[in-house]
Amino acid sequence: MKRVIVHVDMDAFFASVEIRDNPKLKNKPVVIGAMPHERGVVSTCNYIARKYGIHSAMNIKEAYRLCPQAVFMHGDYEKYRKVSAQLHHIWETYADVTEYIACDEGYLDVTRSVKEFRSPEELGLLIKARVKAETGLTCSVGIGYSKSAAKTASEERKPDGFFIIPDREAYCELIHDRDIRVIFGIGKRTAEKLNGYGIHKVSDIIASQKQIMSLLGDKHARFIINSALGLDDRPVIHYDASDAKSLSREMTFQHDQRNFTFLQDVLLLLARNVDERLKTRGLYGRTVTLKITYGDMKSITRSQTCESTNDGYEIYKIAVELLRKVKRQPVRLLGLGMQNLSKDYIRQLTFADLRQDNTESGMEQGIRQLEKRYGMDLSLEKMHSSLGYIYEAVEKMAAGI
Ligand SMILES: [Mg+2]
Repeated sequence: MKRVIVHVDMDAFFASVEIRDNPKLKNKPVVIGAMPHERGVVSTCNYIARKYGIHSAMNIKEAYRLCPQAVFMHGDYEKYRKVSAQLHHIWETYADVTEYIACDEGYLDVTRSVKEFRSPEELGLLIKARVKAETGLTCSVGIGYSKSAAKTASEERKPDGFFIIPDREAYCELIHDRDIRVIFGIGKRTAEKLNGYGIHKVSDIIASQKQIMSLLGDKHARFIINSALGLDDRPVIHYDASDAKSLSREMTFQHDQRNFTFLQDVLLLLARNVDERLKTRGLYGRTVTLKITYGDMKSITRSQTCESTNDGYEIYKIAVELLRKVKRQPVRLLGLGMQNLSKDYIRQLTFADLRQDNTESGMEQGIRQLEKRYGMDLSLEKMHSSLGYIYEAVEKMAAGI
């Protein structure tokens, strides 16, 4: 193979992590996302749950209707992020370039590093074995001569799969009779359009090239036809969502919220979470963004640029100013984000830095006030700062007002 590309994809990632950590869940349908009585969608479910027809992005109530005996859980996204970092560390050992397209999935260009192994197969199986040994989780690994081939290969034997598509001939033969949706670049709408003209299989694309040109326009058509012919020279480009230039936390309420003092209190919890994540990654941000979705599903965002900071309480104060200026209507979703992140900020001494360690920070004081107001323990130790705990705490707070 001229290029050797690995596509690695964890199997039912969030659900697998929860089952790993709680063996009682083994052999049960597990749905991560929300509780059945809540608003929300399925984030991930295990393969047992999939047998009932449950899938990602499905409304949680629909999932409950299909399988009421399933175990429903909130996701612990901080935990998944840590596992993801562990995975990336393993994968990076073997790759010349990594392109992460999700926290549990990525392309590895191993064209050069594979030469240290007897075969691509040996490398692929080693990646699987290390992932299993070091995280206790299974993944599917596909190896191909292109990104499309690698991705198709990893899906071929999922879960815990391993498959190689060494060249164009093997790829074309494999997808020849498959639905056109297997082609990268054909989404739902394009598929519907082509289906309307009797184009259902990959072989139909190859047989109807002229027609597709006139239907989709040169550029799009050319791309799809090339894909159907197994021609894909897209490079693996270094990308990691955790390097992204923004970081945010948002939550959807079970009941639309009209009480703006309460919303302000929720902002403090969100700000503490953002603060923690900035600090663990050594990041500072310069733009605070408030996001609101109202009960009528209209969304707004409001931003304010500030001096580079990683201080949750500073972020909170700016967010509160932004909140004061928005329309007072029932709120369905509240989000707080930090943009323009950088690592290389040279810290200037501020009043906060000069504060003696035994003085309480603004954040600590703020949290203590919330604890009094709602009669709850909101300490970080208690909350583990995971999204699930924030959700739980906020719903309890909402019930108390
Ligand atoms: Mg996956």
